[in-house]
Amino acid sequence: MIYNDKLKMLNFEYLKNLNDAQKKAVSHLSGPLLIVAGAGSGKTKVLTSRIAHIIKQKKAYPNQVLSVTFTNKAAQEMQNRVSKILKKEAIGLSWLGTFHSISAKILRRHAGAVGLNSNFSIIDQNDQVRLIKNICKDRNIDIKQLAPKYILSVIDGWKNKGLYPNKTIASKKNILEKGILAIYKIYQKKLLDLNACDFGDLILHCVYIFENNNDILGIYTNNFKYILVDEYQDTNFIQGKWLNFLTKKHRNICCVGDDDQSIYSWRGAEIKNFLEFDKVYKDTKIIRLEKNYRSTQNILEVASKLISHNQNRVGKNLVTTMESGDLIKLNCYKNGKDEAIGVSDEIEKKLKKKNSLNDIAILVRAIFQTREFEERFLKIGLPYRIIGGTKFYERAEIKDCIAYLRLIYQNKDDLSFERIVNVPKRSVGDTSIKEINKFSKKNSFSLENGAKKLIELNLIKPKTKLGLNSFLNLISKWRNDYSIKKINHVKLLQIVLDESGYSAMLKNKKDLENENRLENIKELLVAMKEFDDLASFLEHVALATSIDQKWDGEKVNLMTMHASKGLEFDFVFLPGWEEGLFPHQKSIEENGDKGLEEERRLAYVGITRAKKNALISFSLNRFYQGNWIDSMASRFINELPEKNIEKNNFFEEKNDEDFEFNQDFEIEEGTKSPGWLRYLKKIK
Ligand code: ATP
Ligand code: MG
Repeated sequence: MIYNDKLKMLNFEYLKNLNDAQKKAVSHLSGPLLIVAGAGSGKTKVLTSRIAHIIKQKKAYPNQVLSVTFTNKAAQEMQNRVSKILKKEAIGLSWLGTFHSISAKILRRHAGAVGLNSNFSIIDQNDQVRLIKNICKDRNIDIKQLAPKYILSVIDGWKNKGLYPNKTIASKKNILEKGILAIYKIYQKKLLDLNACDFGDLILHCVYIFENNNDILGIYTNNFKYILVDEYQDTNFIQGKWLNFLTKKHRNICCVGDDDQSIYSWRGAEIKNFLEFDKVYKDTKIIRLEKNYRSTQNILEVASKLISHNQNRVGKNLVTTMESGDLIKLNCYKNGKDEAIGVSDEIEKKLKKKNSLNDIAILVRAIFQTREFEERFLKIGLPYRIIGGTKFYERAEIKDCIAYLRLIYQNKDDLSFERIVNVPKRSVGDTSIKEINKFSKKNSFSLENGAKKLIELNLIKPKTKLGLNSFLNLISKWRNDYSIKKINHVKLLQIVLDESGYSAMLKNKKDLENENRLENIKELLVAMKEFDDLASFLEHVALATSIDQKWDGEKVNLMTMHASKGLEFDFVFLPGWEEGLFPHQKSIEENGDKGLEEERRLAYVGITRAKKNALISFSLNRFYQGNWIDSMASRFINELPEKNIEKNNFFEEKNDEDFEFNQDFEIEEGTKSPGWLRYLKKIK
């Protein structure tokens, strides 16, 4: 049978450039199949070729093939690749998507089975938080003590484990869980009342329906003749169960994955699904792909050596089909700013060599790291895009700060007025803003002047008047601070944040998001120092937006390493390899060795995105969480094989007065020994 298939396959163009193991994976069509392989070995390629093959071979109609990936971007990419091969025949491939999108589709058809109407809404994180806050308010729970985001993460954890409130048992170890479970019960009830689902529900409800309605389950188990899953190593318990139900009849499930790229345990991913696949699916055929088609030998050796430091792994061989290529660059910089300059210089060199910006990526551990690069790129006019994140100046808290500054700078800035007149809350609601707008328009006033006039004429509700008046007075005071008292623009923003109550608003609600916001504002204050005055800073910000609008075509890609999963670029920059940042302190603190190993897998994912070269860097000083800190090189740097690495730029700006480094410096026993010093000693 396989032999026949192989003969037939030769007629298909799309199969001709697959290697033998890949062909085997494509042609093994009956029964469970697990493809275990390292990065860049063609797992996704096999999956898309397999979909095409199933359809070309008429083993199933397109709508009988279920293909699941993790992100919309990956699903889109998969759809494109299959469409390219199948052309018209790809029409009807209606079950290709993410776990969430496919679950939503199923759930809409059978919503009644979980008490919903088919037009249920899917709520986003903001709505979730709002709902939890309301519940906490009703129950007199202090959200300063128990942050809504934390509550939601616990609830999400339960949902990922397949647990509805009535099946959940609060852990005795975590004293907060009992209270959270009570909230979970109300939360689920409220969602039902609102005819709504959160993301976790989409899968959870489907599994409930499958478990309790054989007739409904039958529709899908009969229909899905083939099931294919990419990035299987990152599935969680409930997703595993979802798949298990759907394969009950035909059992033609093919999952591809790489245990070394499992990076979502913090979202409940269970590597067990992957490692125990053949126990759950009897008679599983396992195929390994051992050729890497993506990266040069140097890249692959560096990545393989690094990941070999993990104890907990299957372990695999991966040889590249590519030449050795350039050595991996390892750069040390004086500080984060220099790192951004160094990276942009390297990018400019690549541009001169006619490389495309689209083929260059900067992958960071934490999204705040993008700011330094954005500043630099804006300064030199290098177009960039942020994948899976918001650009620095588009973040809500940054826009708020800028709006305050703009309004102070010129009182006709109505957009800014509207944005911040009620942030933080001053009892100036939407209706009042509409009134101010109407009145101002009629009399050709700016909103600020219109508001003043309305107060003068006593045409504003007393409660609103109070808040509005205090806002207007503050704006006048700050204007005075700046233009008469000559307070500098950085100090000015600090005063604004203080006196407006903006900082307090963020500090009062302690959750991760607000901490990030405060962090971003601190970053903004540092960025502002670069400018002589408010005017030049605001000009810079205005330009930040207009530069971006001008460039639609080629852009450097900035994203987190998490978001880069499955993608590939010619050149990959990996900045910020410093202890605490990468590996991230929190991962290690919370999960010990397991956390460290997950960070190392993340490094492996990062390096293996590169086709032609990877450029790793760290800096000796970094502005981090509001302070300048001396940083130590990441322990991962010491784990890279010397022979594949080219160390340079260690002494960028070595003539700088405040950066004198004596290469003969000996580190005394017991002193804080920054990794980079150890490192410099090693390379002498
Ligand atoms: P990751 O683990 O990062 O998700 P992957 O195993 O899914 O990687 P793919 O993205 O499918 O790998 O393939 C990596 C690159 O190698 C792609 O550019 C792909 O087109 C190419 N490739 C895969 N197999 C072959 C082959 N047999 N011949 C030529 N190129 C190939
Ligand atoms: Mg892939």
